Amino acid sequence: MKVVLACDLGGTNLRMALVSKDGEIIYQLNDETPKEKEEIIKRLTLLASMCSSEAQKIGYEVKALGIAAPATLNSKEGIILEAPNVPALNDLPICTILEHNLGIKCFLENDANAAAIGEQYFGAAKGVNSLLMITLGTGVGGGIILDNKLWCGADGTAGEIGHIVVEPMGAPCGCGSRGCLEQYSSASAIVRMAKEMRIDYPESILYSKLFFSAKEVYEAGKKGDKLALKVFEQMGFYLGIALAGLINVLNPEAIVIGGGASKGWELFIPHTIEQIQKRAYKQPAQRAKLLKAKLAEMAGVLGIAKITFDKISSVAMPNI
Ligand SMILES: [Zn+2]
Repeated sequence: MKVVLACDLGGTNLRMALVSKDGEIIYQLNDETPKEKEEIIKRLTLLASMCSSEAQKIGYEVKALGIAAPATLNSKEGIILEAPNVPALNDLPICTILEHNLGIKCFLENDANAAAIGEQYFGAAKGVNSLLMITLGTGVGGGIILDNKLWCGADGTAGEIGHIVVEPMGAPCGCGSRGCLEQYSSASAIVRMAKEMRIDYPESILYSKLFFSAKEVYEAGKKGDKLALKVFEQMGFYLGIALAGLINVLNPEAIVIGGGASKGWELFIPHTIEQIQKRAYKQPAQRAKLLKAKLAEMAGVLGIAKITFDKISSVAMPNI
């Protein structure tokens, strides 16, 4: 059987898996993402080699490697351009290096784009032709699929839904702008907003905590903590503003929402829906189904596997 190596190169975690054409994960290795460029390449080479040996043992043929990276990138040339959360990857011709090290063809795609493809083929949006994928994690990632085609834009940088401005004079963003959706609807934004707003909520269980996570804000919200509920209201409000605009522009059939912070779904989604209903045109607003992502942390791996299978079937494979 033919398989591909599929790698989700995250800011914190690294996943390398052998995946079949129908999305079955045959073997998988997880590791932390090293901080230095050379170490990242060494680790990727090692994990890919270990997975390939495993494939050989069970008689599978590894056709290529696909990498999903949290970055703007040139997928044609296989070069990572800017990775704000993993700066060691900036300007890295990752495909050329790994093709040299491993002797197989290597393909590169943005991680949120890969997740969008993953959810479309194997997850929440099966059978949907036009969809948006939003990943609410450390940052906010986005992927756009229109008429079954990943919309990459003229330079391959499209889909940065997290950097739509929802508050013109709002919080400064890593991208250089201010008031981006990422500053209001990501896991890090949940923590920041709770810290900023807690002065008005002395009764909150988060009021005097030195450190807390987005998950703790969610736990507090589930117990009815007013500060936490206000934070999720803000998160949903701003997400709704961004989605209403996207719905008017793109008229998608579905919007898939995933990522760690999407676990607070029931606390923020009513506010998101309210803004969509208030701001978007009626017909596209009714059409766009809001779906919870199904593949969790495996969306990137499965998506890049599908992309890699498509690439190897559409291009003549030169010997490297
Ligand atoms: Zn931004």
